[in-house]
Amino acid sequence: VKNQKELRKFEAENVPMSDIIKLLPDHVANQIAAGEVIQRPASVVKELLENALDAQATEIKLIIKDGGRTSIQVLDNGVGMSETDARMAWERHATSKISTAGDLFKLNTMGFRGEALASIASVAHVEMKTRKHNEEVGTLLAIEGSHLKRQEPVSVMPGTSITVKNLFFNVPARRNFLKSNPVESKYIIDEFMRVALACPHLSLYMYNNDQEVFALKAATLGKRIKDIYTDRKDEQLLEVAEKTSVVSVQGYVGSPDSAKKTRGEQYFFVNGRFFKDPYLNHAVVAAYEELIPKDCYPLYILHLEIAPDAIDVNVHPQKTEIKFSEEKIIYQMIRSVVKRALGKYIQTPEMDFNPEIISGGANAPEMPFQPRVESKQGYNPFSPQTPRNGGGGDWKKMFDPYAGQSFSERYEKEQEASLFPVPELKTAASHLIYTKEYENSCFQLHNSYILSQVKNGLLILDQQAAHERILFERYLASFENQKLPTQEKLFPKVIELDAADFELLSELTDDLARLGFDISAFGKNTVIVNGIPADVKSVNEQELVEGMLESYKLGMTELRLEKRENLARSMARRTCIKGGDALGATEMMQLVEQLFACENPNYSPDGKPIFGRVGMADLQQLLGKR
Ligand code: ADP
Ligand code: MG
Repeated sequence: VKNQKELRKFEAENVPMSDIIKLLPDHVANQIAAGEVIQRPASVVKELLENALDAQATEIKLIIKDGGRTSIQVLDNGVGMSETDARMAWERHATSKISTAGDLFKLNTMGFRGEALASIASVAHVEMKTRKHNEEVGTLLAIEGSHLKRQEPVSVMPGTSITVKNLFFNVPARRNFLKSNPVESKYIIDEFMRVALACPHLSLYMYNNDQEVFALKAATLGKRIKDIYTDRKDEQLLEVAEKTSVVSVQGYVGSPDSAKKTRGEQYFFVNGRFFKDPYLNHAVVAAYEELIPKDCYPLYILHLEIAPDAIDVNVHPQKTEIKFSEEKIIYQMIRSVVKRALGKYIQTPEMDFNPEIISGGANAPEMPFQPRVESKQGYNPFSPQTPRNGGGGDWKKMFDPYAGQSFSERYEKEQEASLFPVPELKTAASHLIYTKEYENSCFQLHNSYILSQVKNGLLILDQQAAHERILFERYLASFENQKLPTQEKLFPKVIELDAADFELLSELTDDLARLGFDISAFGKNTVIVNGIPADVKSVNEQELVEGMLESYKLGMTELRLEKRENLARSMARRTCIKGGDALGATEMMQLVEQLFACENPNYSPDGKPIFGRVGMADLQQLLGKR
C-alpha cells in the first residue's frame, strides 16, 4: 500500500502537463466499488454475516436499527483478527481467503474478493472490535468514509463485532433511493434467513429496533425450517437425500397440499452458498407436476454439495448466480429425488385408506399395490409442464356432472347414491380399476379423433389440432416464463443449410434455446444440434429443424406473423401428434385434460375448430326417435 502511494506521488509530480490520465485515489476507487457490492443495508448484512461464517463462528448476532439505515451490527464468536489484520481487513483487495487465481477453483469460503469491508468503510461510519482467542487484548478500529479515525487496544470478548452506522452518509443519491424501513428490514431478514437455512448448525439471533426477530438455536435442517416457518410446525416435510459421484443433494421439500401462492419458501444452496437458478427450480417444479395447481409454489430447501472446481461462483458481485459445469446431470438428479420423495408421501395416505375394510380381513396378504401417482407418472408424451389437476379439471365442468372432482370424491358420491355399497371397492387396487375405467371412457376413432362421453352426449376431438394448440401455448409461455428443458444428444448432429436458412436459424437461436433446442453454429452454413426439446419424440433432427424453418418462412412471408408467435406455431406444427398416430388411454385422457386447461381450447393456432359435441338429442334424431 505504501509503495502504491509513493508511486502515485511520484506520478503526480512527474506527469507532464499535457497528460490527463491519473490513477484514482483509494477512497474514490473504493466508493466506486461500493456501488456494485453495497446497494442497500441488506448487502452490508450479507457481507458481514458471510465474514462471520468464514471466521468459523458458531454463534452470530445481528442487530439492526431503522431497517439498517441508522445502524447494523454483527457480532460473532469466530477466530477474530490480530492488530495488523484488523487494519489490513479494510484495504481494498485485502483477503485472507485466497492468494492465487488457482484458489478460485477450490473455494471453501463465502468471501474471496476482499472488497466488502473496504467498500462498506467508504460509504459509512464503521467501528470494529476484534480479538483472537489466544490474545489478551483486542483491537478497536473506527473508520469514516475510508478515513481511519481511531485505532486502540480494547478489552473485548474473543471474536469480532462490526457496527456500520449512517450508511451512504456521503452518497445522498443512494440514501434517497432506499425504500421505507419495513421494506429494507424485509431485505435484511431475507439475507438472514438464507444464512439460517444454509447453516442450521449455527446459533443465530436477530434483533430489529430492540425487538427479537429470530432466536435460532443450533439444530438440524428439519428443525431449523420449522423454527423459521412457525406456521408449518405441524406439517410434514419430505426429506430428500441422494449422493452420486457428481453431486449430493440433501434437504426437504413440502408436501403438495402445503404449496402456497407465493414463491418465498424456495431455497437452493451449493456448498453452503445461496443461489438462484430458474433451470434447477424447474427441475423441482417438474417433479410436482400434476400434484399442485399451476399458480402454487412448493416449499423446497435443498443443499447441493459439489466439488468446488465444478462450479463457478465468480459470476456476479452479489454472487447469487452460479455456473455449474454439470448442470444437466444435476437437473435430472434433483427432479428424480424430489419425485421419489413425493412418491413415498403420496403412497402413505393411500395405504391408510380404511385398511380394515380391505377384503379378506385383517390377515389378508398385502395387496399388490400401486400408488396413485404411478398412474399419473406413466408415459407422458406431452411435456414436463403438463397442466396440473387444478387446471385440467375445468373442461369436465363444462360437460361432466362430476365436474372437477377427484376419482375418490366421485367414488364416494356414487357410493352415497347407491343403496348397496360394495365394500371391496374400497381397496386401493379396485380404486385403480375405477381410475382405468374412467380413462377408458375415451375412445380413439381411426387413430385421428378422440371420442369421450360427456354429460348429455358425445365429445369429438381432433387429436392433431388439440395437441397443436397445447404445444403452441406451451411454447409461447416458454418465451415469457421458464425455458423448456433440453434432452442432450449423445451424438450431436451436424446439419448443413443454405446460406439464407443458416442466417435465419442464427437469428432464432436464442428463442429456440427457450424452446429447449441446443443449437450452435459449426462452421460455414453448418450448425450442430447438441440437444432438442425434452418432450420431442422425433429423432430426426435434420427433418425437425428444416421442417420448422420451412413453416417459419411460410408464417413470415404469407401470414406476416410476429417472430415468436411464428416460431411457437412452427414448432407446434412440427412436433404435435398427427392424425393417424395411435394413442393409449392415458395419453388420450391427458390430451383432453391439457386441451381444456388451455387459454383458448376452441381453435387450433391456425383457426380450425378443435372439437365438436353431439348431444343426446342429436343422436336420437340420427337413430330415429323411439
Ligand atoms: P473477503 O471476505 O472477500 O476476504 P472482506 O472485505 O469481507 O473480504 O474481509 C476482508 C478480510 O477481513 C477477510 O479475508 C478476513 O480475513 C477478515 N475478516 C473480515 N470479517 C471478519 C470476521 N468477522 N472475523 C474474522 N476475520 C474477518
Ligand atoms: Mg467477506
